[in-house]
Amino acid sequence: SFENVGFIGLGNMGSRMADNLLKAGYKLTVHDVNCNAMKKYSDMRVSTKQTPFGVAEASDVVITMLPSSSHVLNVYHGPYGLLEGGNILRPRLLIDSSTIDPQTSRRLSASISNCSLKEKRENWESPVMLDAPVSGGVVAAEAGSLTFMVGGSEDAYLAAKSLLLSMGKNAIFCGGPGNGSVAKLCNNLAMAVSMIGVSEALALGQSLGISADVLTKIFNSSSARCWSSDSYNPVPGVMQGVPSSRNYSGGFASKLMAKDLNLAAASAEEVAQKCPMTFLAKNIYREICKDAHETEDFSCVFRHYYSGKNE
Ligand code: NAD
Repeated sequence: SFENVGFIGLGNMGSRMADNLLKAGYKLTVHDVNCNAMKKYSDMRVSTKQTPFGVAEASDVVITMLPSSSHVLNVYHGPYGLLEGGNILRPRLLIDSSTIDPQTSRRLSASISNCSLKEKRENWESPVMLDAPVSGGVVAAEAGSLTFMVGGSEDAYLAAKSLLLSMGKNAIFCGGPGNGSVAKLCNNLAMAVSMIGVSEALALGQSLGISADVLTKIFNSSSARCWSSDSYNPVPGVMQGVPSSRNYSGGFASKLMAKDLNLAAASAEEVAQKCPMTFLAKNIYREICKDAHETEDFSCVFRHYYSGKNE
């Protein structure tokens, strides 16, 4: 079990996850480059450090929740980074929950496995890394109901499980290093393509004279039924309590979807895997962001089709 937990990246997601760790009774040490993000914690008498290395020196496990690969690399390998002390680490476990490309997760995991521990404990011979990106947005982070997709060693996953479950409702082991990141990218890719497909079909249906309400009822009792049609419908007014019913506010921002599709497309190229829909979806979300809709929920792709028709 881990007592001293380090947390780096106190943004929209990270601050809520850190709050749930505090609620669960863990002793936290935190860091963020943004002083305002840290002030909330120093006001609560949580230990704050000016550098990632300061966090590492105080922690048995360190969790990072940062915007993208370059930030994660900076926190690990940059000046006063987690690995500043050469190859000798205090933390036994490093968990990265940021959404990044699997290749970076794998390289980081390999460099951690070349490190040794300052103090060996129990059966723990050397430090280990887990990639553990999450599904569920800010609302799930706050409610402690995230799903963690975990890549790395299974023993480390089992050791980390109760820590993860104090921030989430599920932690699913996905296999070796980088597989958590693979799972996350593939999930979001399938979600983007199905959202675009449902939006396109509902827009065409409306243009051909059938209401989105009726067509959604058909989908939901037929073979087109999916999460984008029955739980997160993109057409305003068809469902209550979803972003499309409130002008596409308060959901999963299109710019985050664009980011995840970029990662999926880059990863596909690296392994020479054909992914035509990924590239199409990536371009559609790039256009949506260019049109100043980047903070709107990704289901606003429906409007991209429907208003496009009237222009
Ligand atoms: P955010 O931008 O709100 O927070 C990131 C935090 O990291 C900021 O506080 C920033 O100051 C800090 N930071 C940046 N560089 C740093 C550095 N070098 N050292 C220390 N701190 C640094 O982002 P977020 O919405 O919390 O997302 C975090 C990650 O979670 C991203 O990878 C995102 O793709 C993923 N994610 C987000 C959501 C969502 O709905 N927001 C859902 C699932 C996954």
